[in-house]
Amino acid sequence: MIDTHAHLLKEFYDNIEETINNSKINNILHIINCADSLSSSYETLQLSKQYKNFVLPAIGIHPNNIKDNWKEEINEIEILIKKEKPIAIGETGLDYYHNKENKIEQIELFKSQINLSKKYNLPILIHSREATKDTLDILKETKPIGIIHCFSGSLETAKEYIKLGLYLGIGGVITFKNSKLPEVIKEIPLENIVLETDCPFLTPHPHRGKQNSPSYIYLIAERIAQIKNISIEEVIKQTSNNAKDIFKI
Ligand SMILES: [Zn+2]
Repeated sequence: MIDTHAHLLKEFYDNIEETINNSKINNILHIINCADSLSSSYETLQLSKQYKNFVLPAIGIHPNNIKDNWKEEINEIEILIKKEKPIAIGETGLDYYHNKENKIEQIELFKSQINLSKKYNLPILIHSREATKDTLDILKETKPIGIIHCFSGSLETAKEYIKLGLYLGIGGVITFKNSKLPEVIKEIPLENIVLETDCPFLTPHPHRGKQNSPSYIYLIAERIAQIKNISIEEVIKQTSNNAKDIFKI
């Protein structure tokens, strides 16, 4: 299994080594470890050197972490792309839930990272919270390749993203009791889905409330198998192939 979206960062974990070793024991093949700022971009690049071919780094700046000097930071991200060859750009995107006062800057920051993803032919990991319309408009205009991380929207929105060639990242939310996501995912082909934990956030049922880990990917696979009435093996095989295609691994 591949966890296409994790945040194994010091800010969230004091047991990164243990978490990674547990993931290996629990049949995880690769972890895409996502930065959310310039400093965590350095951190995930460093960690990926320690766990070569296992922890794969995505670097970028999350909309919640915009600083006044973000343009300089993006220049530095570009230098890192050239020097360190990360596997993806992200996580980035739009978040109007946390802040809608700085929409224009968020859009500029997002677009600058879409440019990098296209220039260096890397997939982009997209966060979109209460910003579906702007996200879709930008993606229709720019057409990057990548993943809509932690997708939890409507069937109509899912279809729009898929039409653009994007994949839906499905995580712990699908295991939550009152989630409407199962109804949507029932209608979406496995060919358009990848699995993710977004750890340390969104710990799947029945571990909700505890620390999340890439090891819990199987709970998401299991729930999708249930919803689609197919085997868990089939879910794992197809979604892993999708991830391998996207990240060229
Ligand atoms: Zn995330």
